[in-house]
Amino acid sequence: MTELVVATRNPGKLREIAALLEGHGIRLLSVRDFPELPEVEEDGDTFEANAMKKAREVAAFTGRLTLADDSGLEVAALGGRPGVNSARFAGEQAKDDENTAKLLKELAGVPMEKRQGAFRCVMALCQADGNCRLFSGKLEGVILEERRGKGGFGYDPVFFVPSYDKTLAELPLEIKNGISHRGQALVGLVEFFKSCPGG
Ligand code: IMP
Repeated sequence: MTELVVATRNPGKLREIAALLEGHGIRLLSVRDFPELPEVEEDGDTFEANAMKKAREVAAFTGRLTLADDSGLEVAALGGRPGVNSARFAGEQAKDDENTAKLLKELAGVPMEKRQGAFRCVMALCQADGNCRLFSGKLEGVILEERRGKGGFGYDPVFFVPSYDKTLAELPLEIKNGISHRGQALVGLVEFFKSCPGG
């Protein structure tokens, strides 16, 4: 069975990744299994650079195949912000709700037809020797003026998906995973595992 370290401390991401990889013969380890693991600073300008940095450093430290996800929300009316800074939009230690509040404040007065946003996710799969592969996904939607729903994490309560007439926080996890940026990247990853000898 393939062993894979998932390099994230975000329980929402871990839950979604575990659900999507279930039944594919992959044993998941998390950063909790490696208490000595140093914190990786996310200082890249792109999702690709951050995902690769996280996965490379954790793979080198653990000596195991590692998956890291860097994701975020790009809002056209804000020139693509918060982007790579989505987790820290309202400050270094900001909580999901504080980041969402800042987003709503910055978009105050922007009409519905100009509130398009897209979640992007880049996953890096790296070996201990530094060899990596990237997988990516994107989900387009509209940023609402108020929160709706209790599920998901991050900006989900204000991210409206027109084709479902719901926010991501109103959709069951299976549906979110079927359409999300992270789900799309993981489909690519699973296909890759299947194409590997013995996969
Ligand atoms: P990072 O990849 O650890 O830098 O953090 C990504 C941040 O983007 C999260 O903390 C959330 O704020 C946001 N984000 C990424 N994916 C999602 C999602 O599926 N739903 C809601 N927010 C997300």
